[in-house]
Amino acid sequence: MKTLVKTKYLLDCTGTAPIPGGWFVFSDGVVRAVGRPGEPAPPVESADAFLDFSDSFVMPGLIDSHIHLGLSHTDTIKPMPVNAQMAQPPQVKICKAALYLRQHLRAGVTTVRGMGEEHFIDIYMARAVAEGYIDGPRIIPSGNIITATHGQGQIGLSVADGVEGVRRACRENLAQGADFLKIFVTGGVVSGKGGPCASTYTPAEIRVAAEEAAALDKYVAAHVHGGPGLDMCVDAGVRSLEHASMATDAQIEKILRAGCWVTGTFSPAFHPQGVHSLSAEQQDRLLKIRDQFMETFSKLVALGANLSFGTDGVHGALAFEALTIAQCGADNMRAILYLTREAAKACRREEEIGVVAPGKYADFIALAENPLDNLENLTTVRSVYIGGTAKI
Ligand SMILES: [Zn+2]
Repeated sequence: MKTLVKTKYLLDCTGTAPIPGGWFVFSDGVVRAVGRPGEPAPPVESADAFLDFSDSFVMPGLIDSHIHLGLSHTDTIKPMPVNAQMAQPPQVKICKAALYLRQHLRAGVTTVRGMGEEHFIDIYMARAVAEGYIDGPRIIPSGNIITATHGQGQIGLSVADGVEGVRRACRENLAQGADFLKIFVTGGVVSGKGGPCASTYTPAEIRVAAEEAAALDKYVAAHVHGGPGLDMCVDAGVRSLEHASMATDAQIEKILRAGCWVTGTFSPAFHPQGVHSLSAEQQDRLLKIRDQFMETFSKLVALGANLSFGTDGVHGALAFEALTIAQCGADNMRAILYLTREAAKACRREEEIGVVAPGKYADFIALAENPLDNLENLTTVRSVYIGGTAKI
């Protein structure tokens, strides 16, 4: 069935200016044709269905590159400390995750990348969404957290120590259907001994994760703020550095040379509600890294690093990420590309998502106002389509 979509403006996120009166056609969940600037739309009768967004700004669905389904920093139903949330049974987490997925949908997010769970819940929920049992964005799962006994994210379930321990944890995730592997290399804000610049893994432990991922054409994303652990990750061939908030100038150069991706996660550190679920000690750790966080990302933006962004437990706050990226020097178009085209590349899904173009999934959103004028307008979501199906 061929569907014609007419818009007020179409921003395809290939990097070109929005097209006034832009249109596109999709069938079987995939975009088949996109009108060039000035090219009139085909007659409505030429399609089997017609979506009239001639009062809306239409663009690809947003991609949140770093989420956790098992926790929320902004849960208003039953707020609780993040460590307590992480220790909840999987049945509880799955019910809560269904709500968090809807929060993403309402915010115009059509793909999320899961950055570490317990009980493989992101892998099971990815299937449940794909099969239509629950509504939510596409989920790119990594399975269970891989962390050392004294590492960040450790609550006693997913411990992996030593080269063989890490290898086994990697293989368990891959066997369950992980799309990539998430390892925790340095401490962080929530937990992990030694703080955000102390590495709780050795180079050999990081290398084995990269080796296991590469063997199945997968990649590693590493939680790493700074310190020697960041160098170890780049040297070991880790593809995606999560946070990298304390990277030095020399490390930034190294990241650029290696072509690594960096995922910024401003929301838990800067969103007004983001820090509520943290203890006083955790908040103290967080406040100490805030300035450095902004400084690092200002440099990464200025130097043209490979960047994507994620809300990391503040579900549905991608517009806030965009506003913070802009404070780091990105113009509005660049900030939007980080959440669409660039995020798709970060997730290695650029053949499928991130732009409105022939051959890509018909994942798109209709906004009441133009986000290029003001990034706040990313919150004016009217409709959300995933694979050509209306979700909102
Ligand atoms: Zn995270």
